[in-house]
Amino acid sequence: MSQNLHYSGDNIMMGRQSPPQSKLFYTTVSLEERVRKDHPLRKIAQVVDFDFIYGEVEGRYGINGNVSVAPPVILKMMLLLILYNVRSERELMSTIPERLDWLWFLGYDLDDEIIRPYFKLENVRDGVFYVANQLFGLQFIERTDIPKYHPDVTVFEVQEADGAHVGILYTDYFPRASKRGGAWMNSFRKQYHKNGKMITPIICNVGNFTKPTGDKPSLLTFEEAATMFHEFGHALHGLLSDCTYRRLSGTAVPRDFVELPSQIMENWALHPEVIKIYAKHYQTGEPIPQELLDKINNARLFNLGFATVEYLAASFLDMDWHTLEEPVEKDPIEFEDQSMEKIGLIPEIVVRYRSPYFSHIFSGGYSAGYYSYIWAEVLDADAFEAFKQKGLFDQETAQALRKHIYSAGGTDEPMELYKKFRGHEPKVEPLLRRKGFIE
Ligand SMILES: [Zn+2]
Repeated sequence: MSQNLHYSGDNIMMGRQSPPQSKLFYTTVSLEERVRKDHPLRKIAQVVDFDFIYGEVEGRYGINGNVSVAPPVILKMMLLLILYNVRSERELMSTIPERLDWLWFLGYDLDDEIIRPYFKLENVRDGVFYVANQLFGLQFIERTDIPKYHPDVTVFEVQEADGAHVGILYTDYFPRASKRGGAWMNSFRKQYHKNGKMITPIICNVGNFTKPTGDKPSLLTFEEAATMFHEFGHALHGLLSDCTYRRLSGTAVPRDFVELPSQIMENWALHPEVIKIYAKHYQTGEPIPQELLDKINNARLFNLGFATVEYLAASFLDMDWHTLEEPVEKDPIEFEDQSMEKIGLIPEIVVRYRSPYFSHIFSGGYSAGYYSYIWAEVLDADAFEAFKQKGLFDQETAQALRKHIYSAGGTDEPMELYKKFRGHEPKVEPLLRRKGFIE
């Protein structure tokens, strides 16, 4: 949820920055304890009653949650569901002997230094290429004869399974003085058709990963490995584009759709069948132990109730500001309070950004679109569900994903493209399951 979108002229650059790390957390309860399946704090996941939630949505918003899936509706459903859980958690927490602080939810104890040796940059990149090969038959051939703008850059020619040229991929993964922080994708040349001829794309993936030193290679954290998969998803959106017009090709899609091709790639990054292939100790070649994989999985599940609620609260505050129809002069605190009262936010959680510093929505261009991050998660979880049902690299599903999502650019309404790929509108349950809110 930490990605930022950056537009530079005609190019769209998709990037992410590291989230701020909180120093405040409760240390007397281990992470394992916090996420243990039978811990009372997790049990709430099993008491979810969807009829109740749909009823609540209808009662509060006058919307039939079963029929409409416009993003705000589905997100309201999700918020209500989570708040419902959070309230139960609050009651459960009062019965737990230790006096737990909500801020305790802000920390996790995954030791990056133990994880890093299993995520050598080249191994992770091979994992990324492996997934693209298994899904779409793509091959990545390093080209040393193509000019590059810096010695740290590596250039690949991307080919179809039959050797046909797809495009060029530049990877530029190490920090240097003139480079801004974060990771992103950029297009040097977008794909389009001119006079019946295909102009092939030239795409760039940029990161700021630890540079190799002496005999020590570049070793990534798991989050950085996931970032590489994510940004590569944006790169594929550019590389597999097959559109007539440049203005509609590749990543030229609405903001609440642009993170689907990238976020879906993170599902393969962590899948047990894939991670064991690329996450190998850089010295011994030994695959990552199950115990570490469990830790990574637990860390990813941890804190999601809190994080999702504070994020969704900010999304609804954003929509409330940007759906004002008349000019108003209002105390922003009062406006926030009313907005939060409407969604039933509990006092233990505050909205992630208060209005005076909610720069995403006032100067950052997100105006009423801050929900995009989680909407893309709804989409990517539901999309990956198709592979979970039919097979991790099921060819029919992969072809549909390529045709209707990666190749289609902005040539149709996102929901229409999505339905063509998936056969139905996205459902919220796969994301709720992934986040551990329902079983
Ligand atoms: Zn992104």
